[in-house]
Amino acid sequence: MVVGMNITFLGTSSAQPSMTRNHQSMALRVDGDIWLFDCGEATQHQFQKSSLKMGRITKIFITHMHGDHCFGLGPLMCSMTDNLNPEKKLQLQDATQQEQPPIDVYGPARLRRWLRTTLSSTYSNLGRYYRVHEILGPEEEESIDDPTHFHPQELLGTTVRLTPAAVLDVGRGFTVTATAIKHSIPSLGFVIQEPDVMGKLDRDTLVPQLLRNAEALFRQQGIKQPLVLLGRLQREGKPIQLPDGTWLNPPDKKQGRQVVILGDTCDPSSIIPYCQSPHLLVHEATNAWTSLDRDNLATTEALVEERAVQHGHSTPQMAGDFALRIGARTLILTHFSARYKGDDSEDGIKVMEEIRQLALARFGKDKDTDLYCARDLWSFEIKHR
Ligand SMILES: [Zn+2]
Ligand SMILES: [Zn+2]
Repeated sequence: MVVGMNITFLGTSSAQPSMTRNHQSMALRVDGDIWLFDCGEATQHQFQKSSLKMGRITKIFITHMHGDHCFGLGPLMCSMTDNLNPEKKLQLQDATQQEQPPIDVYGPARLRRWLRTTLSSTYSNLGRYYRVHEILGPEEEESIDDPTHFHPQELLGTTVRLTPAAVLDVGRGFTVTATAIKHSIPSLGFVIQEPDVMGKLDRDTLVPQLLRNAEALFRQQGIKQPLVLLGRLQREGKPIQLPDGTWLNPPDKKQGRQVVILGDTCDPSSIIPYCQSPHLLVHEATNAWTSLDRDNLATTEALVEERAVQHGHSTPQMAGDFALRIGARTLILTHFSARYKGDDSEDGIKVMEEIRQLALARFGKDKDTDLYCARDLWSFEIKHR
């Protein structure tokens, strides 16, 4: 079955938030569930301003441990699990009594201990269990966790090694592949792969074929309602032969959607082997050479890129080059410097269009619908091809 899939940008700023941009966070909605990517400070406020429900979050992925990507995690987890009534909360003595599965949090080394310390030091009590799955490089030391030090609602998560990628089984037939991408500290990129899905049944062709065979189906196979075979066709995806020799063919499969979400980076090339012309690439574009810099004779396009790379970041041109390299269908830029306003002001619109054009010149697409600069609370529908 084809499920709805869209992404909402809850925060689009880099290191400093501004009046028009909150710290990083993206909500990927997969058929009603929310998989949250990064959780900068005040992400819970952004949820309140959006139509998304925090209680629908089932998984949280943290790309790296810089505060603009994770400082909102503790408060968000308190708020999103606080909707249990107090009696139920008291009953929450062990994991088997809970109605909802634990919240799965995935991310780099230090995440488990940092979150435990944050929640425990503040005496925070959650209405749901959680567990942290750490994604570690080959050399990174595994934390030896003593369960007596766990937060009261913490369950032991897994440790996954990057060899050089780590494939996470996230259920629903989806996989999430993580790789280490280049930044000033360990940073992760994620490839989210939807399984191939069955297309729509061609009822106009199939129903008359079934009705023509209704009597023979009942006589030979005891099938009282011939249209039940439509369900079997959809479920099993195998051709079925009817008594008159006609073959009922299942619909063609639709290729599953692929979404690539990168943490901060100046070089994400390690993720290329896992990308197959993704439907969507989300790439940072922290610094750009725009009209805001033209009066500063000491700044050039090359210098802006040099400084961005020194800090482990990218320019729009670097993001455009990468999108072209992996054959992405759509590129969304995010993680902008506080200099670039994310509102409807004239100067905000002007500078963001300049940034978009810088990436578009490299991405090389002639349709302007394929490249966007994200704004806070903006959503994008991820469609099958
Ligand atoms: Zn950042
Ligand atoms: Zn960073």
